[in-house]
Amino acid sequence: MKTIADYIRTIPNFPHEGIMFRDVTTLFNDARGFRMAVDTLLHPFAGRPIDRVAGLEARGFILGGAVAHQLGVGFIPVRKAGKLPHDRISQDYTLEYGTATVELHTDSFEPGESVLIVDDLLATGGTAEAGIKLIERLGGKVAGCAFVVDLPDLGGRARLEAMGVEVHALCS
Ligand code: 5GP
Repeated sequence: MKTIADYIRTIPNFPHEGIMFRDVTTLFNDARGFRMAVDTLLHPFAGRPIDRVAGLEARGFILGGAVAHQLGVGFIPVRKAGKLPHDRISQDYTLEYGTATVELHTDSFEPGESVLIVDDLLATGGTAEAGIKLIERLGGKVAGCAFVVDLPDLGGRARLEAMGVEVHALCS
């Protein structure tokens, strides 16, 4: 049987020279692969008190929406700056070159609720850390972070675990 990693395509030198881009569109495109990814992403969290699923833009929306549907809870988009129309909070984070900002609607959940964060890939952990900070600033509890791919050499897992957040990844 194929594993999750077998469905992921690697594109050399994208989007820049020297980057090996892990392309998950081939995973999403395959009926069995996509279902396996969604089922195994939520597996450690099934039966736990999750109130919402937050997806990180953009591939986290595809996975997070399916995970939320499967868990029977609402979905929250963590979006890049300037996309959310209602009252929102912003969190800056550092990229290899420069900074970026993600945002969350202030009425996304009630204080004290438990939120599961979902994205396709964990690299340095900067994006997920910004998502965790947004949820915690609104009084939420992060139930964990679930990714399809972890790139362990980039230290993201250690960074999120140092914040006290449980990290689950399907392959590395
Ligand atoms: P980090 O903030 O952990 O350094 O980077 C993770 C973010 O960048 C995720 O939102 C992820 O979608 C994106 N990303 C970085 N590298 C890759 C890659 O090789 N493949 C995919 N699919 N996404 C990547």
